[in-house]
Amino acid sequence: MTDLLIKNGRILDPANRRDETADLLIQNGRIACIEPDLAIKGVETIDASGKIVSPGLVDMHVHLRDPGFPKKETIQTGCRAAAAGGFTSVACLPNTDPPIDSPEIVQYIAQRAKHADARVYPIACATEKMQGEKLADTDALLNAGAIGFSDDGLPIESTALMRELLARAEARGFAVYPHAEVFALTRGGHMHKGAVSCELGLKGMPAEGEAGMVERDIDLVRQTGGRLHILHISVKRAVKLVRRAKAEGLPVTCEASPHHIALTDEDVRILGTAGKMSPPLRSKEDRDAVIQGLQDGSIDALATDHAPHTTQEKLRAFADAPNGIVGLETAVGVLLTHLVHTGLLSLSDVIAKLTAEPAHILGIDGGNLSEGKPADIAVIDPDLEWIANANLFKSKSRNTPFHGWTLKGRAVMTVLGGRVTYQTIGKR
Ligand SMILES: [Zn+2]
Repeated sequence: MTDLLIKNGRILDPANRRDETADLLIQNGRIACIEPDLAIKGVETIDASGKIVSPGLVDMHVHLRDPGFPKKETIQTGCRAAAAGGFTSVACLPNTDPPIDSPEIVQYIAQRAKHADARVYPIACATEKMQGEKLADTDALLNAGAIGFSDDGLPIESTALMRELLARAEARGFAVYPHAEVFALTRGGHMHKGAVSCELGLKGMPAEGEAGMVERDIDLVRQTGGRLHILHISVKRAVKLVRRAKAEGLPVTCEASPHHIALTDEDVRILGTAGKMSPPLRSKEDRDAVIQGLQDGSIDALATDHAPHTTQEKLRAFADAPNGIVGLETAVGVLLTHLVHTGLLSLSDVIAKLTAEPAHILGIDGGNLSEGKPADIAVIDPDLEWIANANLFKSKSRNTPFHGWTLKGRAVMTVLGGRVTYQTIGKR
């Protein structure tokens, strides 16, 4: 690790309300100082003119597939993909094999992540083995290093269990991260229920299958006071419910994923299984409601739901293929192209939803450029045009709907605790 001076970048640090052109000096792995025109000799220097210097991005929703599915991804490869996307911290969801429902698995992840290219924060199982029958030993998991609880991929259907979990959340100060879905409405569905699912002859998942569970969970927050963070919100009525909950002062937050912003169910026709995920790509009306939610702050964070699968798995017929797409390496390009360059959101709002906001919700130390903190930094070229090429991904998997897309905006350097984990800028 060497000291590094990043010169002339636009320092964009929403946590500290900082937006100015200045130089950033990294010494001994930490942010030593940020000031205009730092004249320091003998230090490796990067010219970041025209670039954004942001806190390292935080992805609060990633599937690393480790332990259990090394053909899809490992902690090493997933973190390498994170670094290539500008991310320095990821929260990993627990649907591994075995699932993250014991202190031993939390420790295994910490061990494997020690020398990886991102910090990894495990979100552990809400229920034992994610079977929805008995709550996991949340105290033991928290003590081992878990930062929250979810059965992501599956909803916590039992109202009694969800109430008890939120009561524990209130007592211990963690958040619950539900995958909101009413199975009675969505079971056997493969895509959003609407004109396109009818036309393709695929069983649909109605929007109410998501909104109904969001409504129940917000009601339970009202009863218990426990903190709720809704994963990958995707339908209009769910956004409305969160907006109302926030106005009521309830501790409810939520996130949206790039694919629910850039795509709709219309795209499934062309994408095939590359457009299959849960929640599914929704209607244009839902997509617009998600964008409005991002604009008015109803939606706090942006998260990829990076979900690697092998090419073979995604080559199956639509109904048999697994849900999910990879997202770490295309997130910045997709979000800047579809939110910032279209004028829908400011660059600083998008960066806040990728740094300060998720760090705050997760309760982790990061997502800012405070002096003295570990130097976790993303240098982003907001105007760089590039063509997404899945064959060049650092991730082990290639299941992206954005292969071949021209995107505008990309991380050109990522620094983790002062160590450069990804760099294209300044390389000849
Ligand atoms: Zn997920």
